[in-house]
Amino acid sequence: MTRLITLAAAFCAALFAAAPAHAAAIKVIATTQDLESLAREVGGDKIEVEALARGYQDPHHVEPKPSFILKLNKAELLIVVGRELEIGWLPALINQARNPRIQPGADRYLDASLSAHILEIPTGQITRAMGDVHPQGNPHYWLDPGNGRHIAKAIADKLAKMAPADAAYFQSRYADFDKRLAEAEKRWDAQMAPYKGLKIVTYHRSWPNFTDRFGLDVIGYVEPRPGIPPSPSHTIDLIGEMKRQNVKLILVEPYFDLKTPNSIARETGATVLVLAPSVGGDKDITDFLKLFDHDVDLVVSALKQTGGK
Ligand SMILES: [Zn+2]
Repeated sequence: MTRLITLAAAFCAALFAAAPAHAAAIKVIATTQDLESLAREVGGDKIEVEALARGYQDPHHVEPKPSFILKLNKAELLIVVGRELEIGWLPALINQARNPRIQPGADRYLDASLSAHILEIPTGQITRAMGDVHPQGNPHYWLDPGNGRHIAKAIADKLAKMAPADAAYFQSRYADFDKRLAEAEKRWDAQMAPYKGLKIVTYHRSWPNFTDRFGLDVIGYVEPRPGIPPSPSHTIDLIGEMKRQNVKLILVEPYFDLKTPNSIARETGATVLVLAPSVGGDKDITDFLKLFDHDVDLVVSALKQTGGK
């Protein structure tokens, strides 16, 4: 009997000793491909990460699929953009996923915005007349590479807490990402430097972090208010303002109708540039660094063509 217990104990000890070597990859779900890319940067082969929304979709309006519920059910970590970006589609999916670990406020629910620099946090009372305004500030914050760094760090820290044995692995991958990002930032800053202060228009308020970071000045939006489709009176006002301020570039996210931007361009002589705000928004944009490679290149070549400078 004693021998049996000893054997059983030895067997258990062997199992526990072997466990870390065979530890399965952590199942991570990110709501967007931007967050998926940042998670992959720091998580490497210690995680299995998948995004729900595709980068070419409007992240405010993602069609929920039954497969999302299954993915959320199995998730060991959920990373969200937050600031109510996903409010129209994610809460119902989380409810149906029956996974207490990833409920908002739970330990495995990571709100990436909590580590980011957030712009446009409204002051005073919010009314319906303001449109689909985000009460917690602008949720398109990943479009500043510096915020990508903060998010990657937050994910590395979370993964390190979940798998302490791999903490050094996650932190060294973060350090490597940080270094590559810093090198890329120098390149993007140099490309954008000639256009400091240049005035542009964008369709939706997707770009304040991008334009702040790279020194462009957004003087107006094709949408009269966030989430509200273009109206004739607003379009006429915008055309007048663009003519007064000599604005030659209109940025449009891939999921908006080009009819109004094109008619504004005809009236003002401006160029319409369809610019992807997310990883996966174009076939070249396969990761977070390539998002800025792609977008900075497109903006610079459009500005050169319009004679911006
Ligand atoms: Zn928005």
